[in-house]
Amino acid sequence: MKTRSVVAAIPCIVIGVLLAAPLEAQSKNTTAADEKPQALPSGLDKRFLDTTADPCVNFFQYACGNFPKYYPIPNDRSGYGTGTLVFEHNEYVLHTMLEKAAAGGADRTPNQQKIGDYYAACMDTPAIDQKGLKPFQIELDRIAGLKDKSELTSLLAHYQLINVNAFLGLSVQQDFKDATKELAAVDQGGLGLPERDYYFRTGDAAEKTRKQYVEHISKALGLLGESESDAQTDAQSIFQLETALAKGSMDITSRREPKNIYHLMGLADLEKLTPGLDWPRLLSEAHFPEVKEINVAAPDFFKALNTLLDTTDLKTIKGYLRWQLIASTESTALPKALDEENFDFYGRKLRGQPEQQARWKRCVQATDGALGEALGQVYVAQEFPPSSKAATLQMVHDIESAMNQDLDGLDWMSPATKARAKAKLHAIADKIGYPDHWRDYSKLTVERDDAYGNSQRAAIFESLRQAAKIGKPVDRGEWGMSPPTVNAYYNPSMNDINFPAGILQPPLYDPKATDAENYGHIGGVVGHELTHGFDDEGRQFDGNGNLSDWWTTEDGKKFVDKADCTVNEYSNFVAVDDAKVNGKLTLGENTADNGGLRLALLAFLADAKRKNIDLTQKEDGYTPLQQFFLGHGQNWCGSTRPEQLRLQVQTDPHSPREFRVNGVVRNMPEFGEAFGCKAGQPMMPQKMCRVW
Ligand SMILES: [Zn+2]
Repeated sequence: MKTRSVVAAIPCIVIGVLLAAPLEAQSKNTTAADEKPQALPSGLDKRFLDTTADPCVNFFQYACGNFPKYYPIPNDRSGYGTGTLVFEHNEYVLHTMLEKAAAGGADRTPNQQKIGDYYAACMDTPAIDQKGLKPFQIELDRIAGLKDKSELTSLLAHYQLINVNAFLGLSVQQDFKDATKELAAVDQGGLGLPERDYYFRTGDAAEKTRKQYVEHISKALGLLGESESDAQTDAQSIFQLETALAKGSMDITSRREPKNIYHLMGLADLEKLTPGLDWPRLLSEAHFPEVKEINVAAPDFFKALNTLLDTTDLKTIKGYLRWQLIASTESTALPKALDEENFDFYGRKLRGQPEQQARWKRCVQATDGALGEALGQVYVAQEFPPSSKAATLQMVHDIESAMNQDLDGLDWMSPATKARAKAKLHAIADKIGYPDHWRDYSKLTVERDDAYGNSQRAAIFESLRQAAKIGKPVDRGEWGMSPPTVNAYYNPSMNDINFPAGILQPPLYDPKATDAENYGHIGGVVGHELTHGFDDEGRQFDGNGNLSDWWTTEDGKKFVDKADCTVNEYSNFVAVDDAKVNGKLTLGENTADNGGLRLALLAFLADAKRKNIDLTQKEDGYTPLQQFFLGHGQNWCGSTRPEQLRLQVQTDPHSPREFRVNGVVRNMPEFGEAFGCKAGQPMMPQKMCRVW
């Protein structure tokens, strides 16, 4: 299931490239479907070092230069790196569990039945292909039966339930200004290209993508039974409609500013923006309980939408709805020809990935998406010992106290702001591994022979679960990622940091590695999430999760000046050809990368002092501080296809891997000292940026 468009400034992806978008394929360079992946490397992996490189000139090259020799990008991926190794290990583990659950038997628990049958139905491609378009027919008939635009409201409500965001996206979010409240929200939606600027960017690469996109829509409509000439005409009209929607949409950089996406209003005000839709009916048929106020994330969009609904003919709208239906369907539930066409555009052309990944891998991911906490319960019992939870919690506490001390020492912040920053720090909830209460899937029916129905029912189950939150107290124990996920996040409305079990394993965290390596690896990740609470977005929320300015005017100005230094620094990094890093879009993540590693270093130094570790004593040829920085560098080893890199800098708030290493160490004088760099060398520039 695809993720619903989220209004809030929510989860932050650490292993950026890995999970950047719903269509990213996940796979491994070897071929056999059930081949056990190699053991995960522990701590510093010397094979990956390029000792011919000068660490003071390009530290990423030094730490990771030989990684692609051992792990070239396989044909079924758009990039490959350290995170992928962990991901593939998990994929193997989950696969084994799902095969067992799918094998059946009367003694399966209800959750085992659900995950096993979901996976089995997904794997049953003969059944999916034999049914062909039949499962979609009821939806296609419904579109064909639309007599006038007034009937659109009901159809869009139904689409929201099955997670097709045609024209708009409904969701539920915590109120930015009152985090104890769950609120209905409506946001811009309905684009088939990754982001609004894809419709307007100039240059050969952008124009080529648009041309390929129109061809893709046309081919997909052809596979739904349209004649070639009809499909071509419709594809053009659909593209024009989407372009007009994009024109009314807010760009991703503006959307990082919380106040830009927060416009709480009564339903009557929303009705004034888009009178062409029957809002009370739309919300009620989408099962939202009586809605009195709603966050309209992008009001200008809803004005533009009204004009568009008015001026677009019904035939074009019908074509657009057919297209959106197919484009939003879980790709594993599509019959073969549509699935391959979908991959050809979103995988091959947009990401440069030559081959589709193996079916079982896609089905493991689909099952995790639909039933993440049912799968996660089995996963945690087998893979996540209490000792890992305890050790991680200890490290989180160490890094939190490093931040507490660091705040004391800051020379630019007034005592008043420091006190409020500390209050926020102390209020952060640490969530490690898995939720205390598991989600109840008993109302979700999973059939062994119905891949499309399963995916649709799972989408409806999730939509109803979300809608039911409105008017109820916020569940602060809820997780936004499943336990096997190789990732982590900070949520400003919850004011919590979350580390799923999936990321807490080698090489990111390894009880056998040295302290220096562990602090450089997972310590940096913990510091990263913690710093998100204080980056340019996070700092606008207080300890209770409310959007409220707790900074003195002067301290706020100083923060912005410091952040501007980071914006300018990263804006000069070239990712591929003419595509540079967007310093504003990536500011929050870059702040978290820089602040996070500094906190990890402080925590490590405190730990070394406690344990009397001799910081001059080399082990394996490296001092503890060198090991620490190498640990950080090797978090991000890997390579990325140029098409994927271009997509990343245009859509992803995370900088490319190289800059997540070099961009950070060049701002830390401790790095230059550890490696004996000279002032003025690339990794030890005269001017360094530091926010935290
Ligand atoms: Zn982040």
